Amino acid sequence: MTEVRTRFAPSPTGFMHLGGVRTALYNYLFAKKMGGKFILRIEDTDQERYVEGATDVIYDTLKGCGMNWDEGPDVGGDWGPYVQSERKNLYMPYAKQLVEKGAAYYCFCTECELKERRAQAEARGEVFKYDKKCLGLSKEEVQAKLDAGLPYVIRLNCPTEGESSYDDVVFGHISFPNSDLDDMVLMKADGMPTYNFANVIDDHLMGITHVMRGMEYLSSTPKYNLLYNAFGWEIPQYIHLTTVMRDATHKLSKRDGDAYYSDFIGKGYLKEALINYLALVGWNPGTDQEFFTMDELIDAFDIHRLNNSPGIFDVNKLDWMNSQYIQKLDPDKYLAMATPWFEKVLAGKNIDYRRLAQLMQSRTDIFSRIPEKIAFLAQMPDYDTAIFFNKKQKSDVDVAREVLPKLLPVLEGIQDWTEANIHDTVMAQIPAWGKKNGAVLWPMRIAISGQESTPGGAFEIAYLLGKDETIRRIRASMEKLG
Ligand code: GLU
Repeated sequence: MTEVRTRFAPSPTGFMHLGGVRTALYNYLFAKKMGGKFILRIEDTDQERYVEGATDVIYDTLKGCGMNWDEGPDVGGDWGPYVQSERKNLYMPYAKQLVEKGAAYYCFCTECELKERRAQAEARGEVFKYDKKCLGLSKEEVQAKLDAGLPYVIRLNCPTEGESSYDDVVFGHISFPNSDLDDMVLMKADGMPTYNFANVIDDHLMGITHVMRGMEYLSSTPKYNLLYNAFGWEIPQYIHLTTVMRDATHKLSKRDGDAYYSDFIGKGYLKEALINYLALVGWNPGTDQEFFTMDELIDAFDIHRLNNSPGIFDVNKLDWMNSQYIQKLDPDKYLAMATPWFEKVLAGKNIDYRRLAQLMQSRTDIFSRIPEKIAFLAQMPDYDTAIFFNKKQKSDVDVAREVLPKLLPVLEGIQDWTEANIHDTVMAQIPAWGKKNGAVLWPMRIAISGQESTPGGAFEIAYLLGKDETIRRIRASMEKLG
């Protein structure tokens, strides 16, 4: 059996779309599953779209996620170069071969002429396709124009009747009427190949056996097959992937900040969680298993389980999955990752981050939500005294009025402000006050945090705040209660 060779062929546009990351992932998983090779090819022939530093974004994203390529721009390989612009001299001879075979032809129509004919077609209510005008030029006419140095493109000569079909692993048997095919440009006037041409030449030269890419290429594939056939080359297996959607009708969008890999990493999602979740948007393992390491994904991956209906990227599901990954993080790793988020609100406050991290780890779904959850440590929120009421804890405003003045001197008397000391000292007093624990600890927590839900209880918060701030807050709350 021939070795499976897949490729990821991004255009360096500056960002990695989540759909692109998923395409890379499936290509990687399939190659590894089959014991084959995963190839990275940078498709930068569209110089207008070129963005400085964009290839680094691609490298960093793939490497960061553990998708290491076997052949590619930096690691090399037998079929390089792996950057299309470095291959630019290689395409023209192939295009000329096609011209000789009659499968392609020179076209000298200018932009201006095409624009006019397009407008005329649109006025007639037709979709403009190149009208094969230059196909009618004789060999001599073509040569005369070439000799005169006229700019030209080379176009594919598509059939106009009958239909073209192929079998796609995900979408099954696909067929298109040939009357839909347009004589696409293979070589541009600047001597560069179009994507449509280069992808076929490169996939063939690089020995790609399985072409896995977005379904926007579904309808161009018959034209690619015409090229393979004209050269007499073997057609690869096609695996078209459905679009990653936000919901049934919306794509992920740049504007909503949910399209790019970097958006999610910036918000503090773990790449392991993101990859795990992305794998399941468009593929299912056929079991109930939801959590996968990269190795487990490789093991479970099967191209026949790719879905042919759009993959819905459910952010809530991702949040949940991310929180599960965060809970399983090694505490030191969590502390290191959470610290920059702590710093956003607590910088300069001298708070025990290690203790805070212990309290926050199980309460973190995504890191970017940490600041709002701990903001009360930086600044006492304004609160409604109604929250002193808690039926279960036997607390209300009156109980708070009674208990806080008792607590104040007890807290003031604590010399060594450790969590254990605060706990033991306060707990030792409660029986003498004739109160249930809740009737003291609930008012204490509200008085120093200003909110009903906090990471940790009264003792943990008092410890984190420090003695001075705790006392200050108790006093302020007593004043508020009047
Ligand atoms: N450069 C193309 C893109 O970024 C690649 C498509 C393909 O995989 O052939 O969409």
